Amino acid sequence: MNYYSTNHQSSIASLQEAVVKGLAPDKGLYMPEKIKALPAGFFETIDQLSFQEIAYRVADAFFGEDIEADTLKQIVYDTLSFETPVVKVEENIYSLELFHGPTLAFKDVGGRFMARLLGYFIKKQGQTDVNVLVATSGDTGSAVANGFLGVEGIHVYVLYPKGLVSEIQEKQFTTLGKNITALEVDGTFDDCQRLVKSAFMDEELNAKLKLTSANSINVARFLPQAFYYFNAYAQLKKQGKADNLVVCVPSGNFGNITAGLFGKRMGLPIKRFIAANNQNDIFLQYLETGKYSPRPSVATIANAMDVGDPSNFARVLDLYGNSHENISADISGCRYLDEQIGATMKSCYQSTGYLLDPHGACGYQALKEGLKEGETGVFLETAHPAKFVGTVEAIIGEKVAIPEKLQEFMKGEKLSFELSKEFADFKKFLLQ
Ligand SMILES: *Cc1c(COP(=O)(O)O)cnc(C)c1O
Repeated sequence: MNYYSTNHQSSIASLQEAVVKGLAPDKGLYMPEKIKALPAGFFETIDQLSFQEIAYRVADAFFGEDIEADTLKQIVYDTLSFETPVVKVEENIYSLELFHGPTLAFKDVGGRFMARLLGYFIKKQGQTDVNVLVATSGDTGSAVANGFLGVEGIHVYVLYPKGLVSEIQEKQFTTLGKNITALEVDGTFDDCQRLVKSAFMDEELNAKLKLTSANSINVARFLPQAFYYFNAYAQLKKQGKADNLVVCVPSGNFGNITAGLFGKRMGLPIKRFIAANNQNDIFLQYLETGKYSPRPSVATIANAMDVGDPSNFARVLDLYGNSHENISADISGCRYLDEQIGATMKSCYQSTGYLLDPHGACGYQALKEGLKEGETGVFLETAHPAKFVGTVEAIIGEKVAIPEKLQEFMKGEKLSFELSKEFADFKKFLLQ
């Protein structure tokens, strides 16, 4: 299948080109030329299939024309070595727990899938020494680094702002070794992102090194996020709760929710979506005014959603033919400030015993307020609360148990190279 750019200036790309390039040359995002509907029979019996089986059917619709069945199956099955269970929080509200992967956040699914797909293409081309550059404010770096750990022919450089990621997050990408190098930049996340962008534009670097990116705009990271929406539907169907389903997605760059919208386009019976925002409510403002006005992000306790110009908004527009009316028919929005997020975490924990993380809390609250008669709501619990242990403990006033996987990372020894925020230093480092 071919991919076009949302800016329609660059030429059509193959899957391999789209994955290796990431962003289209005209700075648009790649979109698949077709979104194939899955047959009604698939949805009738979906509750009898495993997560891996469901995901393979979805992956086949996107990637089946480009990758042999056995290889694709292997990639899907290796990626999904963990479950994404649907857990009842209270009457009619369910949590889709996406935090059972290696780094306890939903980005593990896309990170692992992309690592395997890129690894496959590189091997096929007989390439070695491919360098993946990724700037992170926390969660992306850990998911990408753990996904790519040990993948042959690929070296990953994670750039992160010194002193601005939590200790748990830092340990998840600085203790791995092997083909993962952590670069501790004396600057902000924006500086890290600027260094990566400058590297992609530097002629000398590109002549000497094979560089690619693993950020969320890459189709190989983006599309696999559709898998767990189908799986959530299957689990709710099994319980007789899949009618009039409302899915609420805590959103930052809008990659996760857009993958769900793709699922709906493939025939997944989801009635409507809610995009939950923190104070960075650019999407809500678009819904209310019809105008898209990006602005600098502000810091909140749901920091993975601190995005002032959501990159996947271009995909939402494209999917709905730029129609504000059509977008509004499928998606509503909401915004929660830090005090509201904290109050939600506290009251949900006290009344149901379910511990939310600050991102999932936005999703839960939106369903509490927005579900209508006869609807069932499921929100995506995008990270484990222990990843934000300081914030969560301060809010609920209790100790939070740290899962064993996180404790294992904490035992590792931090290995990182310190860098200034000057591009010349980064370039020198890459070339040596
Ligand atoms: C990345 C992230 C989000 C936002 O997802 P988008 O795809 O960028 O909208 C929400 N919650 C957590 C915990 C994240 O890591």
